[in-house]
Amino acid sequence: MKTAICPGSFDPVTVGHVDIIHRAAKLFDKVIVVVMINYHKPNSYFTASERVELLKRSLGDIKNVEIDMYSGLLAEYADKKGACAVVKGLRAVSDFEYEFQQALTNKKLNPELETVFLTASAESMYLSSSVVKQVCEFGGDIREFVPAEVCDDIISRIKERNRFS
Ligand code: ADP
Repeated sequence: MKTAICPGSFDPVTVGHVDIIHRAAKLFDKVIVVVMINYHKPNSYFTASERVELLKRSLGDIKNVEIDMYSGLLAEYADKKGACAVVKGLRAVSDFEYEFQQALTNKKLNPELETVFLTASAESMYLSSSVVKQVCEFGGDIREFVPAEVCDDIISRIKERNRFS
């Protein structure tokens, strides 16, 4: 059985993330979407548990997709889960340098682990979690950016955060 990992911050989930996860689920027997808890990025808007919850509601019941969170090395996590690949979305040349570095590092740490890049879809290649947060903070409409199932909760959470910061 071929297992792949889709890692990310997902702070919060966007339609771009969902697109990559659906496509990965067609290519692999099992996909584990993992919210990476990164202490170098302490300013996340959503807690790791909230991010997992938003992903669960956005993805619904895809039989071969699991959602998890992890704080540590991705290469180690993949080894523990018996995964053969990491699937990442590539939006533009600007993503490439960082992703290439990550892929080579993971390969060094876990030589069995391949990184598979899927090109972002034309509709969401401009989209990132940061864009969602910025647009929402200034009162813009983010309905096309995030999954419908979680849109209202994302909006109210970002507004609530702004009130207290
Ligand atoms: P971001 O904060 O930039 O959205 P994440 O760390 O949450 O990034 O992203 C997790 C994974 O999803 C990465 O592989 C990233 O390249 C991919 N990804 C993020 N946004 C998109 C998008 N709009 N289209 C395709 N892939 C994406």
